[in-house]
Amino acid sequence: MQTNLADFIKNSPEGQETDAILRSCVHCGFCLATCPTYQLLGDELDSPRGRIYLMKQMLEGQPVTEKTQLHLDRCLTCRACETTCPSGVQYGRLVDISRGIVEKQVKRKTSVTIKRTLLRKILPNTRVFAALFKLGQTARPFLPGRLKKSVPPKGKPAEKWPATRHKRKMLVLDGCVQPVLAPNINAASARVLDRLGISLIKAAQAGCCGAIAYHLNDHEEGLDAMRHNIDAWWPVIEQEEVEAIVITASGCGVTVKEYGHLLRHDPKYAEKAASVSKLACDISEILDAEFKRLQQLLSQPRSDLNRKTLSFHSPCTLQHGLQLRGKAEKILIAAGFELTVVQNAHLCCGSAGTYSILQPKLSQQLLENKVSALEAGAPDQIATANIGCLMHLQSGTALSVRHWIELLDERLSCQE
Ligand code: SF4
Ligand code: SF4
Repeated sequence: MQTNLADFIKNSPEGQETDAILRSCVHCGFCLATCPTYQLLGDELDSPRGRIYLMKQMLEGQPVTEKTQLHLDRCLTCRACETTCPSGVQYGRLVDISRGIVEKQVKRKTSVTIKRTLLRKILPNTRVFAALFKLGQTARPFLPGRLKKSVPPKGKPAEKWPATRHKRKMLVLDGCVQPVLAPNINAASARVLDRLGISLIKAAQAGCCGAIAYHLNDHEEGLDAMRHNIDAWWPVIEQEEVEAIVITASGCGVTVKEYGHLLRHDPKYAEKAASVSKLACDISEILDAEFKRLQQLLSQPRSDLNRKTLSFHSPCTLQHGLQLRGKAEKILIAAGFELTVVQNAHLCCGSAGTYSILQPKLSQQLLENKVSALEAGAPDQIATANIGCLMHLQSGTALSVRHWIELLDERLSCQE
């Protein structure tokens, strides 16, 4: 695609990045077939190719309107289009940069601005979120049906975290909402890794990966959260010689893997950010690398021989963002679970960070489609790999939805 970027961006790093991305698009339209919003709305401007045109116009200096903002807001940033694109168009980066520019040029309604600000301030702040969640839990039994559904039930409390006893160590990303909603996920990861001879350790003071603010278009606030984590992790990385930074929410994993790129022009943080991104691994990657040892553990006789049927929802951030497909599924099969075939497994469940709150109608439609696809194989339960998807799916099904690492941990504990 030919481009002629406007002066305001042409010579900046963002300008060079977006120019290269725009030029890589050949308008073939293959991406339309796998775009969830195009499937639902049938409007070219709600497809990757249509949005690329809108962003190109904006970057070439044409006036930006609420219409541009609306079509970019409706994008889930699921990046299914990136997986489909034969030209390797980095749509996710293009939309992130473009949204940041649109946010500065188009004023939102006051009510929408307030909503977005509250999300940006509350969700990444674990203490505030925990207090509000507690309040919601107390009020939940008295709430009417629809409102009750919006307050998630309390997840399984965290079971024992093993003591640090191994030479091999890995650091875990605590995150922001996950420790409140499902504290057992990281504890289960620590127990699984402990059985494999790896101690999972935490760094005090680390928090939200930065994705919430960044994807709500406050890039500086997002980058500050990233710098904060680097500061919290760095002494532990150096002193403990950690092999990896383990991430159990694929949404956060995508972001931490991008620290190096996003902070590449920050003289103080560029090098450390690149090292952090190199160390960042989704828990499925770690266990895939330890698969032989894991198989040995799983081959020991177990007391619970029931074969459970599972439907696995691979989050967009896992399959499209991180391009990790089949690893968690392979481990679950090795652990004795029977996995159902899920139709349209490439499509988003509608959670997409804060999308379910900001675009409730589209999000709900995607949720209904996803739950039907997951329930079609009559599973005993549903498994996934990202806290946002987990909570969103749980709001649409009577089946239990769990993080797959908790299921693996329970399976391993049957053998001890
Ligand atoms: S598939 Fe890729 S190259 Fe083709 S229109 Fe979509 S983004 Fe552009
Ligand atoms: S990121 Fe997802 S919703 Fe957005 S254009 Fe690509 S496929 Fe469509």
